Amino acid sequence: MRTIGLIGGMSWESSAEYYRLINQQVRDHLGPLRSAQMLMYSVDFGPVEQAQHTGRWDDAAAILVKAARSLEAGGADCVVLCTNTMHKVAKQIQAAISIPFLHIAEPAARAALAIDARTVGLLGTAFTMEQDFLKQRLIAQGLTVLVPDERERQDVHRIIYDELCVGVISEESRQIYLRVIDSLAARGAQAIILGCTEIGLLIQPEHSSLPLLDTTGLHAQSAVAFALDD
Ligand code: GLU
Repeated sequence: MRTIGLIGGMSWESSAEYYRLINQQVRDHLGPLRSAQMLMYSVDFGPVEQAQHTGRWDDAAAILVKAARSLEAGGADCVVLCTNTMHKVAKQIQAAISIPFLHIAEPAARAALAIDARTVGLLGTAFTMEQDFLKQRLIAQGLTVLVPDERERQDVHRIIYDELCVGVISEESRQIYLRVIDSLAARGAQAIILGCTEIGLLIQPEHSSLPLLDTTGLHAQSAVAFALDD
């Protein structure tokens, strides 16, 4: 089995999900007492979040490059960055290591195409919804990507940082997200990419009028496929 290297901590609420999902999937593939061989370098989210909100992306990249190099030096066979937003600096991370970097957008795009959802809604932080770094990867796979309107984007972003990243799950916020999903559906979205690794903590498939493509689970699945050479 290959060793998975995770860069976590952004936030640790979702990193814990990656840890659980990867182990569960390895157990499902290999048997009850089997578990994944993995390393996690979990950063302090405080300085990363400050760098994001003040536009100091190179400072954030430096923290993640250090983490990626440590994982490689520690024996990891790949790097999995457990956040969509920080894929803004994916190229810097990739350039700093010689092991594969498993990009979060690829399994999400494949999952959309697998259910023939050519038009997808994208939920995530304002960085992810408004900038091109993730959207372009989806568009390059042939998808049309819709994002919520400005007022909705503010709500989606605020709930991620003020609630989901600090472990707060509220019914009121769930209803806000479900209304945003309904308006994306009305505009033609056939599925929703949960493009933030904490959103799956708030909304699950049974809540939603559209299929949900959760980047946390899909990214974890691609890490397992890599580890097991599937
Ligand atoms: N985990 C989140 C994401 O997937 C948001 C936190 C962050 O900014 O890294 O984008």
